[in-house]
Amino acid sequence: MKAKLHPTYQQITVTCACGNTFTTGSTLSDLRVDICSKCHPFYTGEQRFVDALGRVDKFMARRQAASPRAKKAKKGQEALKVKPLTLKEMLTVTKTA
Ligand SMILES: [Zn+2]
Repeated sequence: MKAKLHPTYQQITVTCACGNTFTTGSTLSDLRVDICSKCHPFYTGEQRFVDALGRVDKFMARRQAASPRAKKAKKGQEALKVKPLTLKEMLTVTKTA
């Protein structure tokens, strides 16, 4: 190995946001992670959101604000789905829509 070229490889402690810690080899001095094998949904089997920036809350707030509009749109679509029985009804439906 060439001198003064390679970073020093050492044992470090990795700290997870859930509080779990474990040691590993790395060139870094300290490592903090958001998720580890103790708290990842794949290993725990429970659904959990990793929400460091409040994005889930923002999305829920936007969804709550948009729900009255979504209901209105659904009502409009149901009105158009009514099948006309005669040609006269068909013409009146196309004129009004
Ligand atoms: Zn964790």
